[in-house]
Amino acid sequence: MFSNRLQTIKPSPSMAAKSVVERLRAEGRTIMDFTIGEPDLPTPPAILDAAAAAMRRGETRYTAAAGTLALRRAIAAKLLRDNRLAYDPAEIVAGCGGKQVIFNAFAATLNPGDEIVVLAPFWVSYPDIALLCDARPVIVAASAENGWKVPVEAIAAAITPRTRWLVINSPNNPTGAVYSESELEGIADILRRHPDIRLLSDEIYEHFVYDGGRHLSPVEIAPDLRERTLIVNGVSKSYCMTGFRIGFGAGPRPLIDAIAKLATQTTTCADAVGQAAATAAFSGEQDSLRAMVALFAERRDAMVTGLAGIDGLICPSPAGSFYVFPSIAGLIGRATPEGHVLASAADVALYFLEWAGVATVAGESYGMPGFLRLSFATSTADIREGCSRIKGACSLLGSNSASRQK
Ligand code: PLP
Repeated sequence: MFSNRLQTIKPSPSMAAKSVVERLRAEGRTIMDFTIGEPDLPTPPAILDAAAAAMRRGETRYTAAAGTLALRRAIAAKLLRDNRLAYDPAEIVAGCGGKQVIFNAFAATLNPGDEIVVLAPFWVSYPDIALLCDARPVIVAASAENGWKVPVEAIAAAITPRTRWLVINSPNNPTGAVYSESELEGIADILRRHPDIRLLSDEIYEHFVYDGGRHLSPVEIAPDLRERTLIVNGVSKSYCMTGFRIGFGAGPRPLIDAIAKLATQTTTCADAVGQAAATAAFSGEQDSLRAMVALFAERRDAMVTGLAGIDGLICPSPAGSFYVFPSIAGLIGRATPEGHVLASAADVALYFLEWAGVATVAGESYGMPGFLRLSFATSTADIREGCSRIKGACSLLGSNSASRQK
């Protein structure tokens, strides 16, 4: 028997896709993997050296539940340098990835029947973590026509007396949308009308902004929200450290203490060696990060170019993160060479996997049917090859059965 709670959630779809890719590769197939939610580059050597040195110094023991003071100081310095925000180390908690910080924040604040407002398309874990905490995710959908920004009136309309959190994720996974200053102002105005609602600002892709754009934290735009905002970030994406499992939350002291209290009875603390490595990542040279973002801009262009002009697929160029989120609405209703009619993005993803050996994640996972997520955190050669395979697979599709009937 398993708990009712477990039955309310789904396994993470990108983790599930990753295991399918591994299985197919083990069977000898060459798969272009566009499901990847992590940079493919190695962790910078200085960070690895810092981890090794920490182990040799004996930093292999439990740390404070909130994380080492060295790490929290490094995070405070990072927040000042990168985000122009002053936080005291006591207002910062480290966790086993940003994901665990979000889990602990929700578990520490949500009661049965409470609601969180999530903007779709969303990172898959926000709704499921809320469900695990017996709360109800209220989804507000954005549209591609609005650049994947949810109009403020729609956010305002979703708020009820049970709303406890508004979650925003800019740069966004999966759409790459980056919220502008005026859009953040609009969101801040809504929150000012609801003083009891907290804001979760997931800034994990902050450095992945292209074309001279700039990530802004809502706290920078609206300092009056500081006392009810939890900034979540970490080293996974920016420093190629997903396996180190270090993330952090910065926010008001009572919330930070509550998150750390939960850690004392669950994980105790984040990995000590990982914390030393993350300290080095935040404090060391930032050139590798800048070089990676420049490389990712080229990869984004390669993917957008590779998908351009494919009949049935529309792929705008994302402003940030490392995903494209094309509409595949034009492929729905068309028949595969085996005569199977594609009825959903999940069908399209399966078709691309089987016929083109290209792995993608269906938009349904992000609360947005009719779209696919493709990660460009992979080599330009694979991006080119994968896009040309997709083009080939699309050219094999029959015409739309609906238009045939006309
Ligand atoms: N937030 C978003 C939007 C993400 O895409 C991810 C990872 O995929 C995370 C948070 C969590 O990252 P981590 O737990 O590795 O810090």
